[in-house]
Amino acid sequence: MDRISRIVALSEAFGPSGFEDDAAAIVREELPDYETYTDHMTNVRCEKEPASDKPRVMLDAHLDEVGVIVQAIKPNGTMRFLPLGGWAATSFPTSSFRLRTKDGGFVKAVVASKPPHFMSAEEKNRPLDVANMVLDCGTSSKEETEALGLGVGCPGVPEINCDFDEERGLFYGKAFDDRIGAAAVIDILNQVRDEELPCNVMGSFSTQEEVGERGVLSNAEALKPDVMIAFEGCPADDTFSEEYMIQAGLRKGPMLRHFDVSMITNWRFQKLALDTAREAGIPVQEAVRSGGGTNGAMVNSRAGVPAIVISVPVRYIHSSNCFCTLEDYENAVKLGVEICRRLDWNTVNKL
Ligand SMILES: [Zn+2]
Repeated sequence: MDRISRIVALSEAFGPSGFEDDAAAIVREELPDYETYTDHMTNVRCEKEPASDKPRVMLDAHLDEVGVIVQAIKPNGTMRFLPLGGWAATSFPTSSFRLRTKDGGFVKAVVASKPPHFMSAEEKNRPLDVANMVLDCGTSSKEETEALGLGVGCPGVPEINCDFDEERGLFYGKAFDDRIGAAAVIDILNQVRDEELPCNVMGSFSTQEEVGERGVLSNAEALKPDVMIAFEGCPADDTFSEEYMIQAGLRKGPMLRHFDVSMITNWRFQKLALDTAREAGIPVQEAVRSGGGTNGAMVNSRAGVPAIVISVPVRYIHSSNCFCTLEDYENAVKLGVEICRRLDWNTVNKL
């Protein structure tokens, strides 16, 4: 696939945390020149030069997206659900979802809450609570819902097709967190396949990030990286921040975070990334985040591996409707390639 079709396919792939099979299948198909290994959590990994003693550079992106899981079916056929990953309750109402049945089929459902006509004044002012919402697939009884193949434990994701506006270089869709990162890692691996690099580049496509960075530990354990670069879709802040606080605006380049609540980035590695961007003429944005958490932090603190996070800004992340741009994506890929060209032992030992 070309890079645009690949991003579209990855965005549309069904893959909430714990159910990443379809996204993993695309990754494997798009890395035809690599021998990939998939473990029982559906983490996918590969390396360019397995036999070399060059520094081991792990390029990671997570395969899972935020979604839902059915908790119980009510007698009227609607379903209680829990969020998979960090949703704002306000992002659920009126969204369409695609639920996966027990046989692997799909059923459309909407997130329903009590219509305003039936609400008391007190109910209208009550803060939204997922516990009061249900998934409704248009049935009228528990039996009818079950007959569609739905039941406890069925996962779902927003039902959104991805489209690309060529003129504006703009993607609209779901799951850019972190399929845009997965696309970037695929792109980098394919670009450097035949290039002589000073490091052994390794791909890590990890699962269950959105529920606590679980899968990446399995990849890190197997790949034993000396250095890690996490590729992410990060929340864009340019539509609701004051100008001076914008650190992840669309079309301003990938974001390099110095700090979030899970990691203080190794400043030497961060400086290498910033110097590399400047020398190569790649725009970047620098951020200090009061929230956040990435696979980079997990590998950094568990294994003492220097890690940076290169993020493509995504508007309205962790909701059904997101935007990101081709130019930010391309600059993230460029930066990743340029950094890999500089990671020889001499440089890695000084990080
Ligand atoms: Zn993410």
